Amino acid sequence: MSDKNKLIKECKSKFKLVCCGVDLLAVFENPMDAINVYFAHLGLKPVSRFELVISDDVLIWLSSACEKLGLHFVYSDFLVGDKRFVYFSKDLALVEKAKVYESNQDDYNLGLLLGYPECCARFYMKNYGLAEQFFHKDHTIITMQNSESASDVYFGLNYLLRFFGLLLIDFYPCSFQCGCAIDIANGYFDSVCELNSEFADWLKEKLSLGVYYSNETGVHVFEHCKFNSSGFDYSGVLLTSENSDHKLFNKGNKIVISDSGNIGSEIIVRSNLIEFGSMRRSGLILFNKH
Ligand SMILES: [Zn+2]
Repeated sequence: MSDKNKLIKECKSKFKLVCCGVDLLAVFENPMDAINVYFAHLGLKPVSRFELVISDDVLIWLSSACEKLGLHFVYSDFLVGDKRFVYFSKDLALVEKAKVYESNQDDYNLGLLLGYPECCARFYMKNYGLAEQFFHKDHTIITMQNSESASDVYFGLNYLLRFFGLLLIDFYPCSFQCGCAIDIANGYFDSVCELNSEFADWLKEKLSLGVYYSNETGVHVFEHCKFNSSGFDYSGVLLTSENSDHKLFNKGNKIVISDSGNIGSEIIVRSNLIEFGSMRRSGLILFNKH
């Protein structure tokens, strides 16, 4: 079983997220989709969007769940792999609008409709070309470059766990200190606490850790991090696919951020943003409970 499926299974076996008689965790594929539907139901997001495989069976349960939740939904005409984007909102006009923005590739207006802060939507647009050319369309390194620090980041901004089906915000913040993004993540977290405080505590725990992001090898999540003044201890590393960085991290149990080399079970990182060359980059982001 993949690390992603293990986490989702753990979550589904422990919790229920019941809203209007619908257990969102039972109905939707992962916690990330479940809470996004909940945010649309509350109107915290004008529109929520994620990908689903659309079939006759899916349309039946989706229609029934949305009716109970007071939500409208439409899905994209185009496919992303075997899935389509599905848009959810209390307002039918807004889901139609989101679908049009997406098909016109109007990312800025789509972002605003999905509840992203204006500064972060602008940041995404401004850097899209750079991300596409050098970073596999991922803005993480650009967000790091735009941040004062990637240590002690508010856990609510940990969108990187989306690869494991968990998140609060589903956009790249313009920086890890963006006040607008932090306010939004905070509001989302408060609403999750009201829905199920035990699930909220679990989610907070899962989002509060160290993440190593590499342009070459992707996202590496350090489990059970114990932070100290120079770095952190960890018990294991979640990964999206086998690679050389993961093998290296699996040998160790401690990350020290300093200026020296690589010693024993300690993996030493020069700074939070590691530059291997002009374009091959990676970084370490420390998400903390605040
Ligand atoms: Zn921002």
